[in-house]
Amino acid sequence: MKIFCIGRNYRDHAKELNNPVPKKPLVFMKPPSALLVNNKPFYYPEFTKDLHYELEVVLKISKNGRHVQKEFASGYYDQVALGIDFTARDIQAECKAKGHPWEIAKGFDNSAALSPFVNISDLENKEAIKFQMKKNGALVQDGDTSDLIFDFDYLIVYLSQFFKLQQGDVIYTGTPAGVGPVKIGDLLEGFLEGEKLLETNIK
Ligand code: MG
Repeated sequence: MKIFCIGRNYRDHAKELNNPVPKKPLVFMKPPSALLVNNKPFYYPEFTKDLHYELEVVLKISKNGRHVQKEFASGYYDQVALGIDFTARDIQAECKAKGHPWEIAKGFDNSAALSPFVNISDLENKEAIKFQMKKNGALVQDGDTSDLIFDFDYLIVYLSQFFKLQQGDVIYTGTPAGVGPVKIGDLLEGFLEGEKLLETNIK
C-alpha cells in the first residue's frame, strides 16, 4: 500500500509555518511501516526534540486507477478516517534549509497514526467534513474540509497522473492551523463530526 500525504493544503496552516500557499499539491509519501493503528501509544523518538502532531482527514482508495478524469474522481474513494501526520519539526527544518528530502522527519516508524474508517455516505455533508483535535482535553485544531485548497477529487486527479492508485492506498489530505508540539504524557484525541475516532497516548 502507499501512504500519500499532502502538505500545506489549508491556507491558515501554510501561513502559521510561514510557507507560501502552493499552486499545485505538495506531495510526499510515508512507508507502510509508518502506520500506527488501533489507538496504540506513540513512543517519542530519540532523534527529535520538537515532535509535532498534525491532524488530517485520510481518504482510502477504493479501486485501482491511473489518469483519473475529474468527473470520475469521486468514484475512487468511499471511506475516510482521521490520521496524525507526526512530524519531527526540527529535522524537517534542517532538511528544508538544505533543500533535502524530508522523509526522515515525516516517514519514520509510527509517524502515521490512523483511526478506523467510516463510510463517506454516512456523513451529513461530504464536502464539509468537520474534524477536531484535542490535546489533553483542550481544543487545538478545528478543521473543515470545505477549506481545503485542493479538494479530494482534485487530489485523486493529480496523484493519479504520477502514481497508479491502488485499492487500499490512503491519502493524508493535509492539516489545518493549530499544529504544535507534544511531550511524553500527552493525550491526543481526534474527532470526526463530533465522534471520537482516534486516541493516541504519547509515551
Ligand atoms: Mg501533514
